[in-house]
Amino acid sequence: MTSRSLATMESSIFARFKTANSIETWILNRLGMIGLTMPWGTVYLHPDHATDEHLWRHEAWHLHQIVRDGPLTFSVRYLWHLAISGYRANPYEIEAYANDHSWPPGYGPEQLI
Ligand SMILES: [Zn+2]
Repeated sequence: MTSRSLATMESSIFARFKTANSIETWILNRLGMIGLTMPWGTVYLHPDHATDEHLWRHEAWHLHQIVRDGPLTFSVRYLWHLAISGYRANPYEIEAYANDHSWPPGYGPEQLI
């Protein structure tokens, strides 16, 4: 098995994209967000943006960061940078925005549910 196919298999087990239900949508609206990736691998997509493949790719980069850095390290660093630097200057967001023209290694639209 190649590392590419292994990465695809791991990410397909880990990653779950879902359209937010009414309560999750309320939370997204309160946060002013259209997508939210959680450290356990679930991506919540706002129903108004659930078909936006650019959003899927952006959130997939966060999944890639979580696998790469580990969920705990990602969460602590993400929140620390958010508190210190704000959303747009957060290095995780800078990386995701810089790369979301394409899917991260091992991710693709087949992981969307
Ligand atoms: Zn982001």
